[in-house]
Amino acid sequence: MKIGVIAIQGAVSEHIEALNKALSERGEKAEVVEIKHKGIVPKCCGIVIPGGESTTLCRLLSKEGIAKEIKEAASRGIPIFGTCAGLIVLAKEGDKQVEKASQDLLGIMDIKVNRNAFGRQRDSFEAELELEILDSPYPGVFLRAPGITKCGKGVRLLGELEGLGIAAEQGKVLALAFHPELTQDLRLHHYFLDKIFR
Ligand code: GLN
Repeated sequence: MKIGVIAIQGAVSEHIEALNKALSERGEKAEVVEIKHKGIVPKCCGIVIPGGESTTLCRLLSKEGIAKEIKEAASRGIPIFGTCAGLIVLAKEGDKQVEKASQDLLGIMDIKVNRNAFGRQRDSFEAELELEILDSPYPGVFLRAPGITKCGKGVRLLGELEGLGIAAEQGKVLALAFHPELTQDLRLHHYFLDKIFR
């Protein structure tokens, strides 16, 4: 059983470490692998798309043929977890900036994103987040973070900050505007693993 982390850029090793810790906490066995080329996604039972820079990420995912494989995996119901730039990549629709950069979004999640919603005012900050799926606040680390401005019918908004969506799920797809891999709090990695193992 493999869980793949897209390893093109961004906080890849931190996600791998968080997944391995969470897996050992729950006594579940899976091999966490890096995805740099096509051919690996179809063997995975879960995919993580980390943060980074979404224009580069989108371009390389298509160029390497990985974008098509992720869309196909999503259509088979494979759990997918996008954080920060990963949330942008999953979205169906972007803002003007996304349009201008002709970003080829995967369109797996029925959300509209503002690519640098929090980025302009404050490049990075931390905030205690009230998320619907957790019973106590989560330490959110935001780095030039996007925000969700519109959700389709099948999407459940899990949290908001300053009037923008910062966490959402649509079936087996989970997207966060912040970086759970940069904290010691593994609850959201566990929430993603629940989608694989339950
Ligand atoms: N806002 C960034 C982008 O447009 C994402 C930032 C991040 O992943 N830390 O790609």
